[in-house]
Amino acid sequence: MKLPHRRFDCLVIGAGGGGLRAALQLAQADLHVAVVTKVFPTRSHTVAAQGGMNAALGNVTPDNWHWHMYDTVKGSDYLGDQDAIEYMCRAASRQVIELEHYGVPFTRLEDGHIYQRAFGGQSQNFGGDQASRTCAAADRTGHAILHALYQQNIRAKTHFFDEYFAVDLIRNEEGAALGAVVIEIETGEVMVIEAKTTLLATGGAGRIFRTSTNAMINTGDGMAMALRAGIPLEDMEFVQFHPTGIAGKGMLISEGVRGEGGYLVNGDGERFMERYAPHAKDLASRDVVSRAIAIEVREGRGCGENKDHVLLKVDHLGPDVIKKRLPAIREMAIRFGGVDPIESPIPVYPTAHYTMGGIPTNRYGQVVAPVGHGAEEEVVGLYAAGECACVSVHGANRLGGNSLLDIVVFGRAAGNHIIAYLKENRYHRPLANESVDMAVARLSKWERRGDGESVSAMLAELQLTMEEYCGVFRSQEVLDEGVSKVLALGERLDEARLSDHSKVFNTAFMEALELENLIDVATATVVSAAARTESRGAHSRLDYPDRNDAEWMRHSLYCKTDHQLDYKPVRTKPLTVDTFPPKKRVY
Ligand SMILES: Cc1cc2nc3c(=O)[nH]c(=O)nc-3n(C[C@H](O)[C@H](O)[C@H](O)COP(=O)(O)OP(=O)(O)OC[C@H]3O[C@@H](n4cnc5c(N)ncnc54)[C@H](O)[C@@H]3O)c2cc1C
Repeated sequence: MKLPHRRFDCLVIGAGGGGLRAALQLAQADLHVAVVTKVFPTRSHTVAAQGGMNAALGNVTPDNWHWHMYDTVKGSDYLGDQDAIEYMCRAASRQVIELEHYGVPFTRLEDGHIYQRAFGGQSQNFGGDQASRTCAAADRTGHAILHALYQQNIRAKTHFFDEYFAVDLIRNEEGAALGAVVIEIETGEVMVIEAKTTLLATGGAGRIFRTSTNAMINTGDGMAMALRAGIPLEDMEFVQFHPTGIAGKGMLISEGVRGEGGYLVNGDGERFMERYAPHAKDLASRDVVSRAIAIEVREGRGCGENKDHVLLKVDHLGPDVIKKRLPAIREMAIRFGGVDPIESPIPVYPTAHYTMGGIPTNRYGQVVAPVGHGAEEEVVGLYAAGECACVSVHGANRLGGNSLLDIVVFGRAAGNHIIAYLKENRYHRPLANESVDMAVARLSKWERRGDGESVSAMLAELQLTMEEYCGVFRSQEVLDEGVSKVLALGERLDEARLSDHSKVFNTAFMEALELENLIDVATATVVSAAARTESRGAHSRLDYPDRNDAEWMRHSLYCKTDHQLDYKPVRTKPLTVDTFPPKKRVY
C-alpha cells in the first residue's frame, strides 16, 4: 500500500512545553520542523500546571543553584543523576528570564521583581530554612508558558499537524530513527512522516491510575512507542502521588496552596504533618506528605462520614490572598469539591500525578539504550524530552516546580543537540519499509475488532487494578497479584483485537490504541515495582520499609520482550561540583 509521505528535518511528537520548547529552538535555527499532536497544542497537559517553575533567582529568600541542586538530589532520594541535575539547576534562572521575554506574565513583587512562592522540599543553605524558589503566573503558570511557547512557534514558522495521532516509530535495521507513522484523527488517514531526527515529547502516563490529576490524553503513548521499538523504560516503578487531590475526584489542588500558608488537618482537628516532618511540616516532599495522609486515614483519623480523606485549611489566609494568588484553585474547589476555600477547608486525598520514569536519555536529550555487558549507546536520530523522558533529574521523587523547569531546559538542550547533529548528518537515510509495514499491520488488526470487549470497560479495569495493586503503599504479594492481573488484561486485549469483526472508527479507534499503550506502560510500572525490594522516594514497600543503597542505588530498565528487567548505575558525579552522597532523608 502506498501511503502519503511528508519529509522534515525534525519531527517533534507532542506539543506540550517540552515539545514546543524544542521545536522553537529548531525553527529558530531555520530547520524544517513538524510538530505532531493528538490535541490542539494549547490543550496539552502543560496547560494545567498551576503552581510554578523553580529557579534560584533569590527574589524572596536568599538562594543559589547549588542549594536547588542539593534539594533536587535529596528529593530524588539519591536516585537522580547528578550531572543532569546540576545542568538543570544551573540553567534555571536564564530559562525563566527567557520565558518572560517570550511573553510569560510572571506574577510580580511590589518592587517589580518576579514573585516566588515556597514549595515542598525547598531549602536554603543545604537543608536549612524554607526557601521560596517557585516562579509563578498566579496559579496558571503552565497555561501562560504553553501559550507563550505556541505563539513563538507560530512566529518561527513551525509546521503543526494538529489532531494527528502518532502510532509507531520507524527505525531501520541499524536502529536509527527515521520518523513515525501517524493517523489524521478526523479522517483516519494513515501517513508517514520521514525525518532526519525524531523527538518524543508525549508527556506522562498518569491515566494508568483511576484517580489522577492527569488529563485523559496522558496515556504514555511515546513511552509505549519506545517499548515497541525495542527501547527499555527507566525507573517506571516511581509514580508520584500528589498529596492534595480533591477527595474522591482526583483533580489537583496545587502545592502552591500550602506554599501560601495552607495546612492539613485530620479528623481530630490535628495539624498532623508536625508529627511526620517536624521541620518542613506541610511542605515536606510530596512522597512524605502523601504517605502521612494515607496513614492518618488508615489508622482511623480521617475526616467526613467515611473518614476517608483529610482537610486542607486555607480560610485563614483571607479572601484577598486567595482571590489574587489562587483564583483558579478556588474555582476548582467550588466546582469539584463543593466548598469555597474562603469559608471552609478542602477535602483532599493523594492522587496519581507524575511519571518519574520514562524513556532513558542523557542530558542532551539523546535516547540511550543498552547494548549488552552493561554498556549503552545513543539511538541514532532519536531524542526524548519532558515527562515521557527519564534524564533522570527526578529520580525516585520529583520536587514540585521542577517539571516545568525540566521540560524547558531539556527541550531546549535536545533542540541544540539536534541542530549540531544535523550539521554532520545532512541527508535523509533510506526509509525502512518493513518498519512502516509493521506499524500499519498493527493498525489493520484493530480494524477487525468491535463488539467483543468494550475498550472503556477494560480501561476502567486496568485503572482500578493499578490503584489497588500498585498504589501509595506496596508489598510483594499485592504487587505480584497486580502483575498477573495486568498481564492477563494485556492478553485479553491481544485476543480481543483478533477475534472480532466490525470496524472501530476514529476517536474510538484512538481510544483503543491508547488502551494498548496504557497496558504496556502499566505493565512496565507494576513489573518494575514488584522487583524493587526497598523503599525509596515514591516507591513505598510495607515489606521493605528502608532504603537499601548497597543493593538498589541503580536505575531499573524494563524491556517489553518477556518483561525482562535490567539495571544501570546512577550517575552520581556532577559536572563541576562535589557529589552529594546519600544521607537519611528527613524533612
Ligand atoms: C494538574 C497538573 C498540575 C501540574 N502543576 C505543575 C507545576 O505547577 N509545576 C511543575 O513543574 N509541574 C507541574 N505539573 C507537571 C508538568 O505540568 C508536566 O510534567 C509537564 O507539563 C509535561 O510536559 P510535556 O511537554 O512533557 O507533556 P504534555 O504537556 O503532557 O504534552 C504532551 C503532548 O504530547 C502529545 N501526544 C501524546 N501522545 C501523542 C500521540 N500518540 N500522538 C501525537 N501526539 C501525542 C499531546 O497531544 C501533547 O501535545 C503538573 C501536572 C499536572 C497534571
